[in-house]
Amino acid sequence: MICGGIDIGGTKIEARLFSEDLTTLDLRRVPTPTERLDDFIDVLAAQVRWLEQLSGERRELPVGVALPGLIDTRTGRAFTSNLPASGHDIGALLCDRIGRRLPVMNDCQAFTLSEANGGAGEGFDTVIGLILGTGVSAGLTFSGRLTKRLNGSALEVGHIMVPASAVLEQGLPLWTCGCGRVGCFEQYISGTGLAAIGKHRLGRPMRAEEIVTAALSGEPNFAEVLSEWLRIAAEFLLIIQLAHDPDCIVLGGGLARIPGVAKRLQAPFQALLLGEMQMPAIRTAMHGDSSGARGAAIMATGRTF
Ligand SMILES: [Zn+2]
Repeated sequence: MICGGIDIGGTKIEARLFSEDLTTLDLRRVPTPTERLDDFIDVLAAQVRWLEQLSGERRELPVGVALPGLIDTRTGRAFTSNLPASGHDIGALLCDRIGRRLPVMNDCQAFTLSEANGGAGEGFDTVIGLILGTGVSAGLTFSGRLTKRLNGSALEVGHIMVPASAVLEQGLPLWTCGCGRVGCFEQYISGTGLAAIGKHRLGRPMRAEEIVTAALSGEPNFAEVLSEWLRIAAEFLLIIQLAHDPDCIVLGGGLARIPGVAKRLQAPFQALLLGEMQMPAIRTAMHGDSSGARGAAIMATGRTF
């Protein structure tokens, strides 16, 4: 079934039309209106109509929408920073414009759904999709499907605390998180976290990309910073494993582009696993930029709840 997906970001709204086998047939990106709610919904509606016209299916075309943030499962209201639609039921407002209600979902869940169906998590029973970017969050599928959860958000795993033992062992400070709590994993294993470890160890501000490039070219100080990041990220994977016991973890976001990162995580992760616990497959995402729209399109075709 031909289908469409729309991925809403802070700077652009991307619409993609997919073939039956979920290959992108065409895509259109437009800037995200950031001031007025009406403008935002107008642009979103125009993207839906573009997909409908392009497909020739018109109102029969399944289209899903993915956005960053939380969608209240009781009211349908979306809560998301940087969008003028925060606090509103985007599905209902869009329905007023286009005459039908489209499914709206969190983009990290869309990423995981996409990777679990024809992506790096294909064929696994329990897949965690883990975004390591400016923030850290996750999604979870069973047998290629999302399950209904209490909150329509990503798994906010970035706000789990780093174990006290790991902080002591690494000799790192306790950093305060944007959420107001102290010692959240996000402050250590996101892109800004890697940069913060670098600054703490090497005494000057630096970007995550600089650390990775220097570490991979063999500069020992930078290689040690990257190793430290890998050890803390492995502590994080252990907690994910203890809580959900997935058979596959798919990495996405900017840090998933560190060359060989999935393999580099294996040794420190293996060292932490309890007793005879098996290590899950660790993969990097296959669908890159198309994940949000692709996952939303899969949702719209009715493969999930
Ligand atoms: Zn936090």
